[in-house]
Amino acid sequence: MSRKTNAFIHLDAIISNYQLANKLCPDSKNIAVIKANAYGHGSAKVAQILEPLVPAFAVAIIEEAVSLRNAGITKPILILQGLNEASELEYAATHNLWLMVVSKQQSELIIETQCSAKLNLWLKFDTGMHRLGLNGDELSQAIAELNQCSWVQQKMVLCTHLACASDPQITQTSFTHSQLSQFFDLFNKFKEQYQLLASVANSAGIMNVPEARCDWNRPGIMLYGLTPFDGIHERHELTTKLKPAMTFTSTVIAIRTVPINESVGYGAIWTAKETSTIATIAVGYADGYPRAAKNGTPVFVQGQIAKLAGRVSMDMITVDISECDGIKVGDEVELWGKNIHADVVASSANTIGYDLITGVSQRVPRIFSD
Ligand SMILES: *Cc1c(COP(=O)(O)O)cnc(C)c1O
Repeated sequence: MSRKTNAFIHLDAIISNYQLANKLCPDSKNIAVIKANAYGHGSAKVAQILEPLVPAFAVAIIEEAVSLRNAGITKPILILQGLNEASELEYAATHNLWLMVVSKQQSELIIETQCSAKLNLWLKFDTGMHRLGLNGDELSQAIAELNQCSWVQQKMVLCTHLACASDPQITQTSFTHSQLSQFFDLFNKFKEQYQLLASVANSAGIMNVPEARCDWNRPGIMLYGLTPFDGIHERHELTTKLKPAMTFTSTVIAIRTVPINESVGYGAIWTAKETSTIATIAVGYADGYPRAAKNGTPVFVQGQIAKLAGRVSMDMITVDISECDGIKVGDEVELWGKNIHADVVASSANTIGYDLITGVSQRVPRIFSD
C-alpha cells in the first residue's frame, strides 16, 4: 500500500561519474562530496558503494559525518564548515574526521585545545568568494602556529573555493585567474617549509579549469550526473559524459477533460485554449518538485512529453496530455532522469540542478539499483 512516487538512484552512474573525475585528473586525489544526504541521493548508501574507490569523503557539517560513522563508514570524512565548538575536536581526532579551518576563531580554538589523536586540517584561504576562509595574513600566522601543535598532522592542505568557475564563458577571465594567482602565491611561498598540499577544484574546476586541479579535488554535483554550469548544460561537451544518477517518478492519479476557457489549479494561471485533457500526478512541492516550475515544464509519460499546466500544488501537479496518446490512470511519469534532464526542469523553474536534487524530500522513498 503506497503512493508510487519514488526517487530511483542509479549507483552505477555515480561510480561512472566518479571514475570520470579520476580520468580527468590523473594526478589528483578526488574526495567525494556527499553533503546534504549525498545531494538528495542517500548518503549512507552512496558512501557504501563509493568507499572502496575513494580516498575520503566530504560533508558540510559534523552531524552528517556522525551519521555516516554510525552507518559504518570508516574512510576519512572532511567537514567543509569545520567545527562549531571545542568539544567536537576530540571526537573529530578520534573518529578520523578531517576539519576545514574556515575562520581565525576556528584556528585559535584548535591551537588552544590539545587532542589525544592527530587532527588532519584543511585551511581555507578566502581568495574572493568572501563567505568563509582566512585572509593571507591570518593564514600565514595560522599555518606557522598550527605547525607547532603536536596534535596537528603534518601536510596540512591549503584550499580555496572558486566563485565563477561555473560559468564557462568567464572561467578564463580575470576573476578565476585572480583567485588562482592569490592562491598559488601563498601556496608556493609556504609549501616547502610546511609541506603543504593544495585543493581548489569543485566539479566546475575539475571540468573546466585545468589549472585548478591540484593534490586534492572536491567533486560534488558531477558525481550525481548533473552539470555544474549555470543553465547551459548542453554547451559543455563533458556534461554529455555524465550519467544522471536520479530518476524521479510519480503516477497519474486522475484524468479529466477541461472545457475551453476553463482554468486549472491555484491562481488559475493556466487556461484551456481548446478542450483539453489534463492528467493529475501525485507529486508536489512537498516532495521537492519545484513550485516555481513554469507552465510548459516537460514531464515524460508513456514515451511522450506532456507539459505542466497550472501551478504546482503541495501534493500534486497537473499536466496537459491533450497531444499524447493512450495515457491512463496508474501510468508512471518521469519528472526528471534519463529522458527529462533535471537541468532542464531546473532552468524552467529558474534554478539549478543542485537545488532540485537536494530538495527531494523525506517523503519520497529512495530506491537503489546497481
Ligand atoms: C559543496 C562543495 C564542493 C562541491 O561542489 P560541486 O559544485 O557540487 O562540485 C566543493 N567544495 C566545497 C568547499 C563545497 O562546499
